[in-house]
Amino acid sequence: MQTGKINVQTENIFPIIKKFLYSDHEIFVRELVSNAVDATQKLKTLASFGEFKGEMGETTIEVVLNKEAKTLTIKDKGIGMTAEEVDKYINQIAFSGAEEFVNKYKDKAEAANAMIGKFGLGFYSSFMVSAKVEIISKSFKNDDDAKAVHWECDGSPDFTLIAADKTERGTDIVLHIADDSAEFIEKERIGTILRKYCGFLPVEIKFEGEVVNDTTPLWTKKPADLTDEDYKKFYQDLYPYSEDPLFNIHLNVDYPFNLTGILYFPKHRNNFDPHKNKIQLYSRQVFITDSVEGIVPEFLMLLHGVLDSPDIPLNVSRSYLQSDSNVKKISGHITKKVADKLEELFKKDRTDFEQKWEDVKVFMEYGMLTDEKFYERAVKFYLFKNTEGKYFTMEEYLEKIKHGQTDKDKKTVYLYTNNAVEQHSFIETAKERGYDVLEMSGQLDSHFVNHVEQKLADTMFVRVDSDTIDNLIKKEEAMPSKLTEEQQNQLKPIIESQLGKDKFTIKFESLSEKDQPIIINKPEFMRRMKDMAAMGGMSYMGTMPEIFHLVVNTNHPIISRILLEADAAKQFQLAKQICDLAMLSQNMLKGEELTKFVKRSLELI
Ligand code: ADP
Ligand code: MG
Repeated sequence: MQTGKINVQTENIFPIIKKFLYSDHEIFVRELVSNAVDATQKLKTLASFGEFKGEMGETTIEVVLNKEAKTLTIKDKGIGMTAEEVDKYINQIAFSGAEEFVNKYKDKAEAANAMIGKFGLGFYSSFMVSAKVEIISKSFKNDDDAKAVHWECDGSPDFTLIAADKTERGTDIVLHIADDSAEFIEKERIGTILRKYCGFLPVEIKFEGEVVNDTTPLWTKKPADLTDEDYKKFYQDLYPYSEDPLFNIHLNVDYPFNLTGILYFPKHRNNFDPHKNKIQLYSRQVFITDSVEGIVPEFLMLLHGVLDSPDIPLNVSRSYLQSDSNVKKISGHITKKVADKLEELFKKDRTDFEQKWEDVKVFMEYGMLTDEKFYERAVKFYLFKNTEGKYFTMEEYLEKIKHGQTDKDKKTVYLYTNNAVEQHSFIETAKERGYDVLEMSGQLDSHFVNHVEQKLADTMFVRVDSDTIDNLIKKEEAMPSKLTEEQQNQLKPIIESQLGKDKFTIKFESLSEKDQPIIINKPEFMRRMKDMAAMGGMSYMGTMPEIFHLVVNTNHPIISRILLEADAAKQFQLAKQICDLAMLSQNMLKGEELTKFVKRSLELI
């Protein structure tokens, strides 16, 4: 029998493991089962090299609960350990420098987490939940002279190591669950943890007689061997009862880093929630986390699916992850693959791409707004849709409007609507002039418009109701006005008295006789400020009153008629009527005012 002290420089390491190193105690299951998988795979590797010539036999890993004895046992038939190996890999754990580390970080769970990978504490995580841990192991090397070993430790740095009479190759790890961790001798609880972390491990795992894992999950297979149905089925396995995804991307990289996985593109339908934990991160088929913030770019969190990479450092803090160069490369790579896929879909079948567009658009915009590299790619297949329901790439659209919608300052003016129903009369006016109007009613469109405007030279986006159309796309000087300045001054108080003054600024403009006599506009700049404020929480902007421009068309016959009307009451009535009509076409006439308007209209008829 050998007794000794585990090579830890401080007596305090176990309480620290217990308290700080993992915030989720349940992960001890993952650590121990994945050690068992490693041991089994190592043996298979040795066999393939001819270094293990014995009988492989059945290699299922078993997880066994004994409620009476309060033990949880993980049994494998892997390479096992000799006494020397137990001493080397378990006793002399990589704690060199641990004392310094412990003293430095004992109050900082985050930093401690960041370091854990370096200390190989996988096995020791068992002490988070155990009063005592036993290892009973028999190495494949000792097939002939049954020198099995039995190691035992109660969580203090003292251990014992004696010979055991185990006859089968492999390792049993026996955890004597501590009283404060009684949840881990519940069948339900262990079953749930196993399915969560071990559901896709590559070696068969049995718990209470049932296999809990799929050893060859879809992402480990060759894309060429898989059908659409396979991908859909896997999606349903991951997210039961979900609507089928739009398409998927099967990732398979082995240089300069290792990455496999399947990302699914769900239907977004104009609304999305980027913070749902829909991407699962695995390392060699071991589940690590489903909160991938910092690992994949935020806009990619709109995707669903699995990522598997042994190159992503595990058990580390988010801030550490974000600065890791592998993580950066991986997220760059995923961004590229997603752009590749979208471009491929666009090039292969434009009609199909257009049909999917409504579900893709918000994702594209989110990516283009937040990721420069993605913008550069996506700008080639982002689609504008106009009020006629036709789709154009940005390049095609510029080509379409360049000629007719470039103003006298050489700026190309993109007209858009965010509500084709409410802004109907403005859209019609624009179309009568031969202009095209874009449909931009999506959740991110007001941001997106700002962004694109900054990116493209000599470009201006204006909402179709933000000014009179001739002001929006100014070609030459306006036609001469039919009203003198004196006449305008005479008319101004008459119009003003019809309105709540503070909301409106009155402008006289010389428009076509065919335009309406009075037009109400919502100035682009003010409106954008308000939109941004509403999204960004600048509440003082959001509560500012809206300002409208009331444009009087000096060339409209009714305007002259009002001016020349001798009967003051009649003049007043006419002015009121055309103001109300302008309000009505902006959907601003409500309640009592609307009732009065209807009454007055009937009288006039
Ligand atoms: P890591 O798995 O990162 O190496 P662990 O603390 O989980 O760190 O395990 C330490 C070492 O103990 C392993 O590298 C392995 O050599 C040995 N070991 C642990 N569990 C087993 C097992 N079930 N069978 C064989 N060797 C094991
Ligand atoms: Mg391990």
